[in-house]
Amino acid sequence: MEENKNPDIINKHDITCINCAGNLEFKPGTTSMECPYCGTMNKIKIDDKKRKEALREIDFLKFISNEDNVEAPKEENKYVKCQACGAETSVDAKVISSECPYCGTNLVLEKSQIKSLITPAALVPFDIDKDVAIESFHKWMKKLWFLPGKTKQYARPNKMQGIYTPYWTYDTNTVTQYRGRRGDDYQTTETYTDSDGETQTRTVTETSWTSVSGTVYLSFDDVLVVASDALPQKHVYALNPWDLNKLIPYDKKFLSGFKSESYDVDVKDGFEKAKNIMDDDIVSAIKRDIGGDHQTISSKNVDYNDITFKHVLLPLWLSSYKYKDKVYRFVVNGQNGKVKGERPVSVLKIILLVLFIAAIIAAIVFFTR
Ligand SMILES: [Zn+2]
Ligand SMILES: [Zn+2]
Repeated sequence: MEENKNPDIINKHDITCINCAGNLEFKPGTTSMECPYCGTMNKIKIDDKKRKEALREIDFLKFISNEDNVEAPKEENKYVKCQACGAETSVDAKVISSECPYCGTNLVLEKSQIKSLITPAALVPFDIDKDVAIESFHKWMKKLWFLPGKTKQYARPNKMQGIYTPYWTYDTNTVTQYRGRRGDDYQTTETYTDSDGETQTRTVTETSWTSVSGTVYLSFDDVLVVASDALPQKHVYALNPWDLNKLIPYDKKFLSGFKSESYDVDVKDGFEKAKNIMDDDIVSAIKRDIGGDHQTISSKNVDYNDITFKHVLLPLWLSSYKYKDKVYRFVVNGQNGKVKGERPVSVLKIILLVLFIAAIIAAIVFFTR
């Protein structure tokens, strides 16, 4: 097969309509590309050999130390960096002007650059299209509490953009040695003097503490780390969990008509983020191991063994809406339509609710006296 020298164009015949030679675009929810001119669907072939390859993990330590020439395949693409927010997104050769999907700033396409980056092993194709994403946004809005009046009527999402977002996934077997204390509750009887000067007894709960130490073993599979700092991190992580069983081998045809973002968190920094994500589970495992009614952890030492990684792309719809001249960004999970994002808050409505609750409590106290 002839190698594709021009990264602007996927092997041209691959994305050309079999009927009218128009440029095809991937159609969410299918495994086909659709011709925007004549509507013909062109099926994307996924070969089985590639399927296995897509789930292949790369040895992390060997990769970062360049041992045994462990390399990840790379590919070149044209990206343009947003002057305002720093997000770097792919540039389509056909496009003559474009807006940053993250912040809406006009992109200076003359400044686009070709970058050589690790080729994604796999991707989850868009399952929901733009209309469904917009619908999900409105449903999300309807369910929000304490929105200022009229936000629901007036919040119109700006141009929705479908972005394949870069993620790293990590697998590792961890061994954690810890030291801490275990607290066991017991009941005891104490005597006290009441307000009339009489001696009384009552039951109190006390805790006896013992020093403990131990080892816990935890295996992690596909810890997902967002490899882009341009996105509102809190909201993107809130889109988890993804159904990674739907990962299919990376094929640029699925990107046709969409943008993709280049990663700006490298494999090594990504693993540091993965450690933070795994930490919650490790702490819970230690507490279970300690047992008792209370647990404190004074020290823990985690060994990460057999670390492997792969690079995957996941589908996000990005947009923002304006309310009183302020821009609120939101993200939609392109696989299941889950929405997370920034939102205005009506302080007045919260104060009213607090006053209302206070009034109810006051009424209860008044009438039950
Ligand atoms: Zn066509
Ligand atoms: Zn931007």
